Amino acid sequence: LSPVPSDIEISRAQTPKAVDVLAKEIGLLPDEIEIYGKSKAKVRLSLLERLKDQADGKYVLVAGITPTPLGEGKSTVTIGLVQALTAHLNVNSFACLRQPSQGPTFGVKGGAAGGGYAQVIPMEEFNLHLTGDIHAITAANNLLAAAIDTRILHENTQTDKALYNRLVPSVNGVREFSKIQLARLKRLGINKTDPNTLTEEEMRKFARLDIDPSTVTWQRVLDTNDRFLRKITIGQANTEKGYSRQAQFDIAVASEIMAVLALTDSLTDMKERLGRMVVASDKSGQPVTAEDLGVTGALTVLMKDAIKPNLMQTLEGTPVFVHAGPFANIAHGNSSVLADKIALKLVGEEGFVVTEAGFGADIGMEKFFNIKCRASGLVPNVVVLVATVRALKMHGGGPSVTAGIPLKREYTEENIPLVADGCCNLQKQIQITQLFGVPVVVALNVFKTDTRAEIDLVCELAKRAGAFDAVPCYHWSVGGKGSVDLARAVREAASEGSRFQFLYDVQLPIVEKIRTIAQAVYGAKDIELSPEAQAKIERYTQQGFGNLPICMAKTHLSLSHQADKKGVPKDFILPISDVRASIGAGFIYPLVGTMSTMPGLPTRPCFYDIDLDTETEQVKGLF
Ligand code: ADP
Repeated sequence: LSPVPSDIEISRAQTPKAVDVLAKEIGLLPDEIEIYGKSKAKVRLSLLERLKDQADGKYVLVAGITPTPLGEGKSTVTIGLVQALTAHLNVNSFACLRQPSQGPTFGVKGGAAGGGYAQVIPMEEFNLHLTGDIHAITAANNLLAAAIDTRILHENTQTDKALYNRLVPSVNGVREFSKIQLARLKRLGINKTDPNTLTEEEMRKFARLDIDPSTVTWQRVLDTNDRFLRKITIGQANTEKGYSRQAQFDIAVASEIMAVLALTDSLTDMKERLGRMVVASDKSGQPVTAEDLGVTGALTVLMKDAIKPNLMQTLEGTPVFVHAGPFANIAHGNSSVLADKIALKLVGEEGFVVTEAGFGADIGMEKFFNIKCRASGLVPNVVVLVATVRALKMHGGGPSVTAGIPLKREYTEENIPLVADGCCNLQKQIQITQLFGVPVVVALNVFKTDTRAEIDLVCELAKRAGAFDAVPCYHWSVGGKGSVDLARAVREAASEGSRFQFLYDVQLPIVEKIRTIAQAVYGAKDIELSPEAQAKIERYTQQGFGNLPICMAKTHLSLSHQADKKGVPKDFILPISDVRASIGAGFIYPLVGTMSTMPGLPTRPCFYDIDLDTETEQVKGLF
């Protein structure tokens, strides 16, 4: 239709096919799905075993230029591309998307189901609770947080003997160690299985984790943009007997458990990763894990359904997995390895799996390659780099924009000099992609105000910068048929073969790995470590965690650490203010500059427009 209706109107106008019909179409057996409602299902991991001899399809990553408030449309391009491949070129394809966080849905972003005629439907189910995976993460994360502080309190207020008796209670006169406790004894070098035979010293060693409260790195989480929880004081009731400390909430999707979910490849592996998560150090500087707290099994129980990818569909009825991973700035920001692995089997050797990395290629894609591909062992065939004329104009020096105020004419009328200047950001992101040896196709997501001359200029400059191809796409206004040229270009690029390589060797010291990303990817002159960051790096190296990949927490709005620096900032020193370690997920997590791990709400948040028609039960105002 013209003009194109709102995202939610388009979504609602299309009735999704029943999810069991979709599942059958893509070759799933009835007992391989668990249906939630009418149009969502979880897919069982047993599928991987059944399809283990099936060759994988081609693996495509959608990334973008540095985001601006004007929007790029990576999700829209991802969906337009699979709609074009499957519904118009007859090639099996799957989109693997990240589940949106409700923080931004009610804050500034409004949703992430794509848009126009390239969307996942029903978009309100996609954007809101889906099948509860983020709620499961929140529950598991906060159970662990409660376990840490409660344990510190109990160790502070009980004698060794009392603590031991409570941890290994006598039931009807019989004392037994649990499986987790036996494993802990083994780790401590105490080769005993009868709780009645431990010496006093062994009881003390067993019962006391001796957590140093100042080293607790595990935070509580919530999937709401609540800036007032960025710094809190816990334990203020009298019942906590003066055990009080400063703590914080992070947004739920930045929880290490989200990263574990995204990077795991089986239930067994997830359980091991959950157990390995380091939450603090003890008073002698040794790491304390979730396993030490005895909570691994409970966390795995809370996460047992979340591990199964969620099947949904596009507006044109093609399959989509929605699973894990938003927030490429403060998390690793990629959807799950499991969804990609299952989809690669389901599409078959000639098919395509298109997945998406958050924000600009400098962060989402860098983490996709260096963290996700390292964990999965999967090799990407093509990168699709999304750009828009209007966002490039902003990188070229175009005026800032304010939500709710009409765009200035620089963005609504032809302005070749601004586009030409802004292409520096696109060219830089192309070069970053080339560091990894994967062919890049630029997808110019066309808005109705773009002119032919502007579109041609971007495509020309992208090819000159080394892109395999650069094509305009019109999926937003017409659906998959508007992205057929992109689909053809991607198919051709995939047949080129990629010479994929990681950016750095994980065996390098932590500082060297951070420096490599800062210089080679962001274009920084150097890095500067705060004393706190320096101390943490030393501690993690001593603890034996020096050989993990790096997950930078950096603003997505600039290649540098300063959100207002558009285009390609030069000569900056990247400040590393703090470093955390996500040992279960398997990465070191440096915080760049003033990066906050809990977003806030704007003055006029999206929730102003979100409403429910109580007669029809229809959700309004999501986009
Ligand atoms: P990203 O994945 O880069 O955050 P999305 O694909 O979610 O971006 O798109 C963000 C918003 O921009 C959506 O509401 C979408 O409808 C809108 N949008 C995307 N492409 C276009 C376009 N070509 N014309 C108009 N609006 C668009």
